[in-house]
Amino acid sequence: MQITEKQLEQVNDRIKALIASNSFYGKKLEAAGISEVSSPEEFSKLPFSEKSDLRDAYPLGLMTAPEEEIVRIHSSSGTTGTPVIIPYTAKDVDDWGEMFKRCYEVAGITNKDRIQITPGYGLWTAGIGFQNGCEKLGAMAVPMGPGNTEKQLEMMQALETTVLCSTSSYALLLAEEIQKRGIKDKIHLKKGVIGSERWSDKMRERISTELGIELYDIYGLTEIYGPGIGINCEHNTGMHIWDDYLYLEIIDPQTGETLPDGEWGEIVITTLVKEGAPLIRYRTHDLSRIIPGECPCGRSYPRIDVIKGRTDDMMKIKGVNVFPSQIEEILGTFEEISSEYQIRISHLDGKDTMRIYVETNGTVDFNGLAKRIAEKVKSRIGFTPIVKVVEIGVLPRSMKKTARVIDERFD
Ligand code: ZN
Repeated sequence: MQITEKQLEQVNDRIKALIASNSFYGKKLEAAGISEVSSPEEFSKLPFSEKSDLRDAYPLGLMTAPEEEIVRIHSSSGTTGTPVIIPYTAKDVDDWGEMFKRCYEVAGITNKDRIQITPGYGLWTAGIGFQNGCEKLGAMAVPMGPGNTEKQLEMMQALETTVLCSTSSYALLLAEEIQKRGIKDKIHLKKGVIGSERWSDKMRERISTELGIELYDIYGLTEIYGPGIGINCEHNTGMHIWDDYLYLEIIDPQTGETLPDGEWGEIVITTLVKEGAPLIRYRTHDLSRIIPGECPCGRSYPRIDVIKGRTDDMMKIKGVNVFPSQIEEILGTFEEISSEYQIRISHLDGKDTMRIYVETNGTVDFNGLAKRIAEKVKSRIGFTPIVKVVEIGVLPRSMKKTARVIDERFD
């Protein structure tokens, strides 16, 4: 997916602003002697922006528009080290709302819907993003925020909410709770807009069946507006990305080279019209691919595949590179286990070991199942894990992101 003439012009506009504001990227460009790009080849040679650049700019070094135009900041959670602060102009907030509105529209959601928003409100971009888009669409927002399952279910019934916005783990928790209480006939949900987490087909199927809803994946990250920069359509052939606001590339995470459409690699995003904190070639560390060809829905927005993981999720077990999604794919082929699993990596007796915990019901032979899973991992990936089978409901569920991979080697 080559960058277009128009997108190049927009990039040059952003480059000018970045140099004028003397931001980290403006300095990178000056050091490289670049003041504009005139072809796709030149664009593909522009330096990358890294999360560490953004951290170094703490607190307000990313501010590219004059302070009087900045109306808001958001911040990434900063679980490791210094947080990143992203300033927004009124136009940025508006653009983000427009993109999010488009997401809802692609999902077939209208101003007659009632949207229950369970992601958190605050410094991060989650709840407020879902809310902006909802208000722009003219639908009714029910701004719950996370947690308090009791209250969530009460409002869901009383207000007859039709759309659930949440993480996949929380949607699963709600689905299980609804089933447990036998209140499915009092629930009016039709659609779920699910963001910010990688999830398996099995989990998707389970949420969809138990709640009786259609599910849509939403993509986004705080550094680039927030959630709402893309969503899958009714054909479910990947997420359409709004290329009038963003240009997206897939690169080889090791070499940094741009990969052709269809190949898996790291998503790199350039913001085309952002004013408060424009980013050029920002490395997201999310793994996906651009889906070649046209979508049956006829929309010309490019598509990316479901996020397969993070470049930094890569584990090395006994010399073999492994992604959690590979294990997940293998587990997905075993019908007798639930969608929940946990992977623990530890260093025992001088060797790295992977233990995989899965859930099943009491009618299955636990030992036989464990053996079959271990054999399949060995034949597909090349090492033998230790597999432990437990009863359904034993593994932890959480409100936010469930930690499925626990690396104990560095504790
Ligand atoms: Zn489509």
